[in-house]
Amino acid sequence: MKHFRVHIALVFVALAVLLGVVSFETRSSRGQSQSPKADSHVKPTVLKTDPRDALAEKASSIFAAAGERNAALQNELVWTFGGKQQRGWYLYDALINQSLNPQNEASSGGFAAALASWQKKVGLNPSGVLDEESLNRMISEWQKNRLKDRNYAQSDQLVTAPAADFYDPERVAELRQVERETYAAYKRMLAAAIADRSLNLAHTPEGGLAPTEKYFKIVSAFRSREYQDQLRRQSPNAGSAGLAVNSPHFTGRALDFYVGGDPVDTKDSNRAIQVKTAVYQWLVRNAERFGFRPYFYEPWHWEYVK
Ligand SMILES: [Zn+2]
Repeated sequence: MKHFRVHIALVFVALAVLLGVVSFETRSSRGQSQSPKADSHVKPTVLKTDPRDALAEKASSIFAAAGERNAALQNELVWTFGGKQQRGWYLYDALINQSLNPQNEASSGGFAAALASWQKKVGLNPSGVLDEESLNRMISEWQKNRLKDRNYAQSDQLVTAPAADFYDPERVAELRQVERETYAAYKRMLAAAIADRSLNLAHTPEGGLAPTEKYFKIVSAFRSREYQDQLRRQSPNAGSAGLAVNSPHFTGRALDFYVGGDPVDTKDSNRAIQVKTAVYQWLVRNAERFGFRPYFYEPWHWEYVK
């Protein structure tokens, strides 16, 4: 019986390596009793492996090497987006981890193993290395999840939000319009964020953001074509990654939130500040529950897709 169980365990280790989903954390739990019945299902998260096992060691060293490669590529991978050369993918750590789940340091074997599993799922070579091909694939998945209906908002679909909701308290009414359902979803999400004490958002007794609070306030909502044209004239070098000609802000369903730093500056140094804020990381983990999805390149830009 003992030999049978060892044999079964080896078969599953081999399977897990093939699938690229060896879970390293589970090694610490070896020695717990495990019935042969439990062995009859491939459940990588509860897989018991023996550290002395040659296959497990091999997988472990493959993913450790992938982890080293990822630690370098995280800051150095040269790739292109929106006609501009980009360097590294560290700005997208939170989004990448959200896509991979569980959360791991990019340099870890666990990250490489989770990435290999994702790569296998989407039909890429499960190397565990986040190279240009894998990054582009991940980006295309994020982009696919964005708002599909880009129709220009009709005036009866828009509501005018109070100035207190905005980063600029002087913002004129014409620039405070939001699509009705999007605004309701924003208020629901905001209530959840305020209720999350870890974010420590200053709020009023009525449950809105305090005048002194900047995080989560709306920087920009519905934009008319005329207003978008005006913005484009002001920053002619924004490029295609900047102010889109066909902006999702035309729908009234795209909101820019204040997530730290300079509100809407795409410089890497600014985005590096934004992606580290508790509010941005909260959005990455929670916005989907409220129907909001990110535009990966702009930490402040979220679209209501429901
Ligand atoms: Zn935006």
